[in-house]
Amino acid sequence: MKFEKIVHNKLSSTGLQVLKAHVRNAASIGISSTGKAVGMTRMKHIVLFAMLLTGVIALCGCGDTSPSGARKIEKIQAVSTIGQINDAITIIGGDRVEAIGLMGAGVDPHSYKASAGDLRKMSRADVIFYNGLHLEAKMGDVLEKLADSKRVTTVTQGIPEDKLLTVDNVSGYHDPHIWFDVPLWMETVRAVSGTLCAMEPEHAEEFKQRAEAYLEQLAELHQYVQDKAAELPEQQRILITAHDAFRYFGRAYGFKVMGLQGISTEAEAGTKDVQDLAKFVAENKIRAIFIESSVPERNIRAVTEAVRALGWEVKVGGELFSDALGEAGTEGGTYIGMVKHNIDTIVNALKTPETE
Ligand SMILES: [Zn+2]
Repeated sequence: MKFEKIVHNKLSSTGLQVLKAHVRNAASIGISSTGKAVGMTRMKHIVLFAMLLTGVIALCGCGDTSPSGARKIEKIQAVSTIGQINDAITIIGGDRVEAIGLMGAGVDPHSYKASAGDLRKMSRADVIFYNGLHLEAKMGDVLEKLADSKRVTTVTQGIPEDKLLTVDNVSGYHDPHIWFDVPLWMETVRAVSGTLCAMEPEHAEEFKQRAEAYLEQLAELHQYVQDKAAELPEQQRILITAHDAFRYFGRAYGFKVMGLQGISTEAEAGTKDVQDLAKFVAENKIRAIFIESSVPERNIRAVTEAVRALGWEVKVGGELFSDALGEAGTEGGTYIGMVKHNIDTIVNALKTPETE
């Protein structure tokens, strides 16, 4: 298989990446990245060589920019799938971790396939974090294979099953969109922190402190969403979006939620789905429905047209970040920003003049 070949080439190379892994392991646990014991003499040679290399790089002043830079040798290379996880790694890892996110703004994780570049990044990584619960549906095999040769953390694995929503009441198959229930997402932040602490116990205090500070911000965020949701009377808390990404949000903050497509975007919405939803919107005189940044908006546009044909005018209330963060540096470019943007957009669009 092509993938195996790529991984094999990476693992068998004597390049700097392998050297880096050995240097870190020599300093901590004394085993190689593949779990085999490294002889002391060989380790000494590797460490000596690395020290020489570090000195050369430092002298030439290119430590920060070169891919083989001295600073990077010391950092944990952490690859993650969705931006929400990458955000947590960046915050908790600080300058000890190089966080490498695979899925950028507007990317749909349900249909995302790892590119050759992604495979390279993952094979070089010290650790890989992903959501799990079949969110990264097309990457499952790749991630499973990588777990044989390196540390792979599924950030949702510690969440008790009774806190997860099932899909179509089928046990053992769960809705993966847990990030919009903020306290539930806090569990994944703890999972990221736990993994980093286990990888570098000498920096565990730093990771824990940053994780605690972030968790405090998330507790405030949870309060913010609750307060904002409370601005809407209960009967107006109906959220209709492109796909079923907001069921945890609905459970946590008292919204009835409906998605045109199901839990995954892999199944296309049919004409009957559009008609049924349009009928519901018109009958309940719902003021706004929402598009999602990671799902094409044509289906939601089709619903607004169908609603109009039934004699009710529903507006598109705005774009929500469902499965992907926004562009870096914008409001939706962080997890906290995405959650705030969504609740503000939802409440402001669903408010009637009387409730404003
Ligand atoms: Zn989704």
